[in-house]
Amino acid sequence: MKQKIKILHLEDMPLDAELVAATLNRENIDSEILVVPNRAAFVKALKGFSFDIVLSDHSLASFDSREALAMIKNAGITTPFILVTATMDDEFAAKVMKEGACDYVLKDRLHRLPQAVIGSIKKHRSEELHQAMQKVTMLQLIKSEAFSKGVLNSLSSHIAVIDELGNIVAVNEAWKCFGLENGETVLQRSEVGSNYFSACEKAAGSGDRIAQRTLSGIKQVMAEKKAIYYLEYPCHSIAKQQWFGMRVTKFENDEPRVVVAHLDITDRKISELRLQESNENLQKNVKELAISNAELEQFAYVASHDLQEPLRMVTSFMTQLENKYDDILDDKGKQYIRFAVDGAKRMRQIILDLLEFSTVGKTGDEPEEVNLNHLINEILALYRKQIEEKQACIEVHQLPVLHIHTPPIRQVFQNLIGNSLKYQKHDVGPVISIACEETISHWQFSVKDNGIGIGREYFDKIFIIFQRLHNKDEYSGTGMGLAVTKKIVENLGGTIWVESQEGTGSTFYFTISKRIAPGIR
Ligand code: ADP
Repeated sequence: MKQKIKILHLEDMPLDAELVAATLNRENIDSEILVVPNRAAFVKALKGFSFDIVLSDHSLASFDSREALAMIKNAGITTPFILVTATMDDEFAAKVMKEGACDYVLKDRLHRLPQAVIGSIKKHRSEELHQAMQKVTMLQLIKSEAFSKGVLNSLSSHIAVIDELGNIVAVNEAWKCFGLENGETVLQRSEVGSNYFSACEKAAGSGDRIAQRTLSGIKQVMAEKKAIYYLEYPCHSIAKQQWFGMRVTKFENDEPRVVVAHLDITDRKISELRLQESNENLQKNVKELAISNAELEQFAYVASHDLQEPLRMVTSFMTQLENKYDDILDDKGKQYIRFAVDGAKRMRQIILDLLEFSTVGKTGDEPEEVNLNHLINEILALYRKQIEEKQACIEVHQLPVLHIHTPPIRQVFQNLIGNSLKYQKHDVGPVISIACEETISHWQFSVKDNGIGIGREYFDKIFIIFQRLHNKDEYSGTGMGLAVTKKIVENLGGTIWVESQEGTGSTFYFTISKRIAPGIR
């Protein structure tokens, strides 16, 4: 090796450093050695000294060879590293070699050092040379036509390279195949040698708007007004429906060139179209549902309104019959008339409830600030007689103040409290508790009682109109209260459900969206 070898030597014993230098000298190795005794000097040397090899003692005060090696590797330095140490067991040697040292020499066998230094440097230089050669070969490959062709042909996009005048100078296999299979499309029919601009102009002249846009896009990229031009277009043949995404970019070889790449995006387009179609269907269904709901509500409203008059007639004539023929009628006749009047009264109540159900959500008023604690007090005043008679105990926890329409929320609490008072065991005083919890998006209210409870199998059924679990003689009612309540709650962006055990009591929960009814602090 003719050149002077530059060595960085990590060693804190000056005598050992001199020994190393003398050993290399003895073998006529022309070297320039920088000895560093500690970490700070080593770090400084790494920054300022370019060297061919690092020699390192193993343990120095608060620094060692493995740390030094790790520093070198982390800095991306590939220079060979030889451990020169007094003692070394096999296991440690294997570890250091694995971490990237290229050799190790024991201090009592320094005669091996010159050979280890020369050998390591030679190996390193030949590796560097090999890598440099590989890079050159790669560059040559990239420059070679075969390489470009190979890469172009491996792509599934249909690609053409165009010069400044619009002449097609190269196309890939995908372009050629598509041109052959789909003769009717101008955009991907042209061959090498033909002029893409003229083909586009001709097609644009006969009304092909995509050809017209393509031409203007390519010219914009060519003039560097745009870095990329992208266009999605349909390209249907009799055999199949297809869509493409066309991307135009510019590059400079010896002359300016434009690459036009058409990628088949049919799968994506078909999914998009399906999604759009099902969205449209959904919207249509929602519209139809809204219309039929409105019609149904209108029907219920008109029917319940119009039924009231004939019903009033039945009741009034029955009462007249009873009054006028009181002395002629026997007890059976009078009982029949009472049944008829009772039936008519019940029917009137059903009609009124139906009317109420059909008008849920139709409130003309503006929402207002409603203190629910005050609202519950008003409702309890309405039920005062029942509360006193049944000696009910009602506990109201702190409730929020909401910005909400008063009638519907009053109706909800009135129905639930009314039911809690009604569906009680005969020998136990009602205990009712009303509370509210706040979640991120909703207010969650609960109305809990110690009444007769509900079987699990009826948890859903009770919210359907006219569904009752008892006959009218046991507990009065029409089976509309919870259906109305559910409809109101859903209009307020919430849900309603019950948790109950027969014989123990029920808790009705309902939520209201904070978006619809925000709280007022
Ligand atoms: P109605 O009270 O007019 O029958 P609702 O729709 O208010 O109609 O209630 C439906 C049914 O749900 C009632 O018939 C009753 O069986 C049951 N129910 C409602 N609330 C309670 C309650 N707090 N405890 C037990 N059962 C109840």
